[in-house]
Amino acid sequence: MRRRGILIVVSGFSGAGKGTLVNKLLEDYDGYVLSVSATTRAPRPGEEDGREYFFLQKEQFEQKIAEDGLIEYACYCDNYYGTPREYVERQLAEGKDVILEIEIQGALKIKKQYGDALLLFVMPPSAGELRRRLEGRGTETEEVIQKRMRRAVKEAEGIENYDYIVVNDDLETCTRQLHEIIKAAHNTPARNREFIENIRTELEGEK
Ligand code: ADP
Ligand code: 5GP
Repeated sequence: MRRRGILIVVSGFSGAGKGTLVNKLLEDYDGYVLSVSATTRAPRPGEEDGREYFFLQKEQFEQKIAEDGLIEYACYCDNYYGTPREYVERQLAEGKDVILEIEIQGALKIKKQYGDALLLFVMPPSAGELRRRLEGRGTETEEVIQKRMRRAVKEAEGIENYDYIVVNDDLETCTRQLHEIIKAAHNTPARNREFIENIRTELEGEK
C-alpha cells in the first residue's frame, strides 16, 4: 500500500526550541523532510539562503503571493513568512512526512486547507526557561526578545487549536515523543481510507 505523507505543523513560542527539535527529528529518523519557508526578515549570522529560509525582498515576496506560490503566509513581528507550495505537495505525494515550522496564524490556515494535517505545539517547561533560551541563543536584541515574549502571550491563547502539545524539557525525550505521535497519526482511520475501503471490498468478495 502506498501511503501519502502527513503534513505536520510544528509551532511554538519563539525560543521554545522548535528548530532544535525538528533538526534532531530529521537527524534521528527517516521519512521526514522539512519545508524551507520564504521570509523578508534579514538572515541571522550563520544562516544561509535556501537552507534556513529563502530570504526575499518584500516585492519578491508579494510577487510569490500574487502567483499563488505559497500555501500560506503570515506577518510575524513586522516580517512576512510563507510556505512555498510546490515542494510541499510533491513531497506529500511521494509519501514523505513534511514538516512546516510555522507560527499560529499560518497553522490555522493550513488546518483549513489540509483537513488531515497534524498540528503540534512545542511548549517550554516554563516561561522563565523560555526567556533564558531566547537570551541564551544570543541572536536577538533585548527589544526583539521583549517583542517575542509579548507575542508568546497572544500565541498561548491559540494552543487549543492544536492536536498535541509536546514539552521540550529534555531534548532527547521530546524528539522521541514527537516521532511517536506522528507514527500513531499514520494509523487513524481518516488517514487510511483507501486501505479500509479495499479491505471492505475484499470482505464482500469472501462472503
Ligand atoms: P525556536 O526555533 O523555537 O525559536 P531554537 O531551536 O532556536 O528555538 O532554540 C532556542 C534556544 O534554546 C537555542 O539556544 C537552543 O540551543 C536552546 N534549546 C533548544 N532546546 C533545548 C532544550 N531541550 N534544553 C535546553 N536548551 C534548548
Ligand atoms: P524566526 O524569525 O525566529 O526564524 O521565525 C519567526 C516565526 O515565524 C516562528 O514562529 C516561525 O515558526 C514562523 N515561521 C517560519 N516560517 C514560516 C512560514 O512559512 N509561515 C508562517 N506562517 N510562519 C513561519
